[in-house]
Amino acid sequence: MDVGIKAIGGYEEVGRNMTAIRIEDKIIIFDIGLYLDRVQVHEETRTEKMHSLDLIDIGAIPDDTVLNDMKGEIVGIVCSHGHLDHIGGLSKLAHRYEAPIVATPFTVKLIEKEIKSEEKFEVDNPVYTLETGRKYLLTPDIELEFVKAQHSIPDCAIPVLHTSEGSIMYTLDFKLDNNPVLGEKTDTDRLQEINQEENIIAAIMDSTRIKEEGRTPSESIAREMVWDTLHQANKEKGVFVTTFSSHVARIKSIVEAAKDMDRRPILIGRSMEKYVGTAEQMGIIDLPDNVGIFGTPRGREEILKKVNKNGKENYLIILTGHQGEPGSSLKRIADGTLPLEIDEGDQVIFSANVIPNPLTKANRYSLETKLEMQGARLFKDVHVSGHASRQDHYDILEMTEPEHVIPAHGGLDFASSYAELAENLGYTFGEDVHILRNGQELLLKS
Ligand SMILES: [Zn+2]
Repeated sequence: MDVGIKAIGGYEEVGRNMTAIRIEDKIIIFDIGLYLDRVQVHEETRTEKMHSLDLIDIGAIPDDTVLNDMKGEIVGIVCSHGHLDHIGGLSKLAHRYEAPIVATPFTVKLIEKEIKSEEKFEVDNPVYTLETGRKYLLTPDIELEFVKAQHSIPDCAIPVLHTSEGSIMYTLDFKLDNNPVLGEKTDTDRLQEINQEENIIAAIMDSTRIKEEGRTPSESIAREMVWDTLHQANKEKGVFVTTFSSHVARIKSIVEAAKDMDRRPILIGRSMEKYVGTAEQMGIIDLPDNVGIFGTPRGREEILKKVNKNGKENYLIILTGHQGEPGSSLKRIADGTLPLEIDEGDQVIFSANVIPNPLTKANRYSLETKLEMQGARLFKDVHVSGHASRQDHYDILEMTEPEHVIPAHGGLDFASSYAELAENLGYTFGEDVHILRNGQELLLKS
C-alpha cells in the first residue's frame, strides 16, 4: 500500500494545523486551522472578511497550494476538535475541496458557526457528525474511527484511519487524564486494541508539550487549584477570573465554586457565549440557574453597570482577556473603557498560561501592570495544560507502537525533542521517526 503524509500547516509553528494523508489514490485532510498570532486574532477578533490568499500570505492559514502536487481524490476533511488552530481555516479553504467535513457533535456546532459567520466565501461542503467511539466509511476501503480523547475543549477525538493493511493515527490534540472534570478519559484501551488487531502504520503526534518533563496533571488538579484560590478570596472584594472560553471543563469548575461562595457567576464576552452557550444547549454542561452569559457589547455594558450598583462582592466575574488581547473584556476594564473599575484589593485570577510568544508576553505585561497600578491582586497560572507531556508520550508510543512517528504541532525544536524521545524507545531518526516542514511529504510503503 502506498501512503503519503503531507505536512501542510503546524509543522513550523503552534497553529494553523493541517495534514493530508494519501492512501493509494484517496486523500484525507486532517484539520484546517488558523495561526492566531499572525493576525493578532484571539478569541474576540474577526477575520470573516479576509481573503484566503491574503491570509496564506501572512501565514495565518495553511498554504494548501502544496496539495496541488499530491495526486488523488480528496474524500474527507476530518477535524479532531473545535479549537481555532484546528478548524479556524475551514471557512477560508474547505470550499476548494469537494469533500464532506467530518467531526464530533460539539465540533460540528462550532464549525457551523465558523461557516455561518464567513463573509467572503460560500462554504457548502456537507458536514457530517461522527460521535467518538464510532466509525464512518470514507471509501469502501478506508474507515474512519473517532477514539475518545481528553484535551481542553469538549468532545475531542483521536481520528484513526483503518485500511486493510493497517491504520494511521492522528493524535492532535490530547492529554492522558485519569480523572477528567468533563467527559470520559482518553480511550487508551481502544488504542491498544487497535495496535493488537492491526498494526499502526503511522502516528502523527502532538509535540506541543514534549519538552515538559513528567506527566501533565489531570484537569481535576486545576479544579482544586481554582477552588483553593477562590475560596481564599476576600469576601468583600471583587473577584475576576479569566480563562479560555473554549475550556468548558474549567468554566464548570469556576461556576461551581461561585455557587459554593454565594456569588453569582457571570460570563462576559462574545466567545464565552459561543463556547459555553453552545455546550449548555447541547447538554454538555449544566449551569446553575443564576448564571448569566453576556455576549453582546450591550449586554456586557448593562451587567457591568448592575454589578457596580449591587456591589462586586456579590458576583464572580468570568471573562476573556487572559492573554491581554486588545478589545477583550479584562483589558477594557483595565483600560477604564467599561463601566466597572478595579478597586484596591480586587482579585484577578488567571486560570490560563501565558502563550509564550513576544506579542502575547507584551500584551500580558501591559495588562498586568495596569491592573496592579489600580491595586489589583494578581493570581497567575492557576492552570494545568490540555496537552500531553513527555512521559505521557512515552506511554502512548509504548501502547500503540506505530511503525512510523511524525511529530507535529510545533517547530523544529519540538519535533527534534520528540524524535529524541522516540529514539529512546528504539526508533531511528530518518528511518521511522521523521521530521517534516510545512509543504514536505513523507512517502511510505507497506
Ligand atoms: Zn487544541
